[in-house]
Amino acid sequence: MIIMKSEATKEEIANVVKEIKKLGLKADVSQGEFRTVIGLVGDERKVDFSHFATLPGVKEAIPVESPYKLISREYGRRFNEEMGRRQIRAGNVSIGGDELVIIAGPCTIESKSQLFRIAEEVKKAGAHILRGGIFKPRSSVHSFQGLGANGREEAEQALRWLYEAGQRFEMPVVTEVRAEAQIDLVASYADIMQIGARNMYNQDLLASVARTGKPVLFKRHFGAGVDEFLSFAEYMAAEGNKDIILCERGILPVGKGKNYTRYTFDLSAIPAIQKETYLPVIADPSHATGRQDLIFNMSCAAVAAGACGLMIETHYDPSEALVDGMQMITPEELKEVITACRKIHELVAYKHKVKVISG
Ligand code: PEP
Ligand code: MN
Repeated sequence: MIIMKSEATKEEIANVVKEIKKLGLKADVSQGEFRTVIGLVGDERKVDFSHFATLPGVKEAIPVESPYKLISREYGRRFNEEMGRRQIRAGNVSIGGDELVIIAGPCTIESKSQLFRIAEEVKKAGAHILRGGIFKPRSSVHSFQGLGANGREEAEQALRWLYEAGQRFEMPVVTEVRAEAQIDLVASYADIMQIGARNMYNQDLLASVARTGKPVLFKRHFGAGVDEFLSFAEYMAAEGNKDIILCERGILPVGKGKNYTRYTFDLSAIPAIQKETYLPVIADPSHATGRQDLIFNMSCAAVAAGACGLMIETHYDPSEALVDGMQMITPEELKEVITACRKIHELVAYKHKVKVISG
């Protein structure tokens, strides 16, 4: 990374960027209150940092080995010493700011009336963002695949419902994009693009989704270490999009015995990730536990661990849902979760109370 002097001129910054591009690398220019830092994106092996150190306006040129340097706290601190958590805006909501953000809605959109009823009820319960799957990742080709599987027209119709429900109940909306071919369609209706756990490693999908410029809700793969999770988030940052919301959603359980949960909620990953990066971290207790009877406790636990938001699958009648009914809670239960979690968030948030960067 190249740290510019505080008095460096625009021309000097442009000149450093030009030199970086000459090497076939990309430049990530981050302008802080007091100085500009330029990250090199790409294979740094052939970079002569001592040459960069001699360029006009340059204070320091230092190689950084980290695979996720652009999203790291260390990088952020270089241009903003007081930097805390990045605040990501979607419609009227800020993720990563002072308020605990609740994302709620059905696992999968099944009909307009189902979605609108759930949207109305989760809004009343205190949710900020509406979720609903259209392009579903399913383990069996024989199970309901979401309305996105029924061709472009039905996919677009479901996206329009999601958009309209968001407008009607004043919530930005998020839905998963599972393949590159779906990106344009999803981006024209969703406020936040979700990349599901199974696609965490799909670097081409990540880069293309990042290039839409929309905020991305990025879920950790159930087999990924925290370093891998962050390294793949870096693929999006390298495209110039740092509006990335990281989501812990459970990792593979261990042992041959019965584990009683769908995945193992990796709660300690939440503060561990937050130490590494300025990106906001949220948690999904629904997929992590797979059990409606555990959502209350595990939501509280995730917020206590420092999550700045929760994604909770909600349905007025979970037993009726075509997908993930066993982990969905009702809007009434959601309200109880939100009430408790807000109190916990107030208690622990001072620990994370840091100057928020945005932009
Ligand atoms: C989802 O949130 O709809 C989902 C399928 O979750 P995950 O990718 O974490 O399994
Ligand atoms: Mn689900």
